[in-house]
Amino acid sequence: MSREKLMKSIARERVEILFNLAFEKARAGDFNLARRYIEIALRIAGKARIKIPRKYKRSYCRKCFAPLIPSLTLSVRIKSEGRGSRVVYRCLLCGWTRKYMIKASKRGLRRE
Ligand SMILES: [Zn+2]
Repeated sequence: MSREKLMKSIARERVEILFNLAFEKARAGDFNLARRYIEIALRIAGKARIKIPRKYKRSYCRKCFAPLIPSLTLSVRIKSEGRGSRVVYRCLLCGWTRKYMIKASKRGLRRE
């Protein structure tokens, strides 16, 4: 394994650990520490030039870096607009919002 590859795999592992810790801390109510973990994870990913794993990409607030946990730090609303629907994510800590288009699937939308 080349040095760069090794560094990247270490970075990926750390990012994973930090995201997990961030979620753990957020669930325990320590949002400041949770944000710190996300910030560190993003910094490591940036330095190593790796992508944030897909499963975490939408799981943090782009403004305040808080982990987004439905009903705890995240409000999720579904807006129907004609043919398509949008899901609106809102960070409950800082008010940041983001809309994602969702394509209607054959199985339909699952509501939580
Ligand atoms: Zn936020």
